[in-house]
Amino acid sequence: MRYIAGTSVVLDTSPSLLFHCRIRRRKLGAAGRRLVMTPVNSRSQPRESEDGIISVEEWRRWGPVSPFPAAVKQIVDDLKVLECKLDSPIEFGGNGGKLQGPFGAYEDKKHRATYEALNDPEKKFRFFSARQVACRLLGSRGYLCQKCWLAMEDCMCSYIKPCGLWKQIRFWLYMHPRDFLRQNNTGKLLWQIFGVQSATLCVFGIAEDEEIMWNEFKRAGKNQVRCLYPNQNSEVTFSVKDTFGCSASENPGSSSMTDLHFILLDGTWNNSAAMLKLLKDHAKSV
Ligand SMILES: [Zn+2]
Repeated sequence: MRYIAGTSVVLDTSPSLLFHCRIRRRKLGAAGRRLVMTPVNSRSQPRESEDGIISVEEWRRWGPVSPFPAAVKQIVDDLKVLECKLDSPIEFGGNGGKLQGPFGAYEDKKHRATYEALNDPEKKFRFFSARQVACRLLGSRGYLCQKCWLAMEDCMCSYIKPCGLWKQIRFWLYMHPRDFLRQNNTGKLLWQIFGVQSATLCVFGIAEDEEIMWNEFKRAGKNQVRCLYPNQNSEVTFSVKDTFGCSASENPGSSSMTDLHFILLDGTWNNSAAMLKLLKDHAKSV
């Protein structure tokens, strides 16, 4: 896999759309939001926003294409058990599904102890990712729009105009878990506009997402995969034709062409640097 600095691939994502993306953070009271994960069987008509079950359909409505991750399910189940044990409702507050209140204080100590007990760095970051995703899923229910990840009163879905991407190009939005369901994340616009088959979300550290992505890369061959990441040489720009050294631009849309895959890292600079390092390490073994 090669890493190229800069790109000539221009995304026409309508600047006006981006500028009109008004992010309004809802001020939450001290009480925050409560999620009481009542067992689904105890309700005659369970409401998705209040039970502790996350279906694969609910998972995919947020953007992923993978099965519901086993590690995330385990965290959700553990939270449910802990809620029953403590007899204290799960409370979320602020942005990003942060646990609060007595439950949050207890769970914070508990998950830190679990994290410290893991001796493998990979297990640590996978546990971190699963917990982040689980808390954000539960804390965003009934609060954020599942398509645009904005507070429901700020939903901008009606302003999005989907359009097709050149069908031989596929973007992979490799997202840090801290950016998952973040209201001011902009990477989500890619699949909202181009669709999940052209711009696919892959959450960093979530095995099911990463397996799908790496399998596609293996199928395409490493020469068909590029990671777009700016660095000190980012003034250098390559065209798709130069980069892939093929007849991509001469015969666009040919059914015999193999897809060109672009990995886009989505996270803060510090987080994305760590992601890039792991990406390179993993790429060597592919
Ligand atoms: Zn929306």
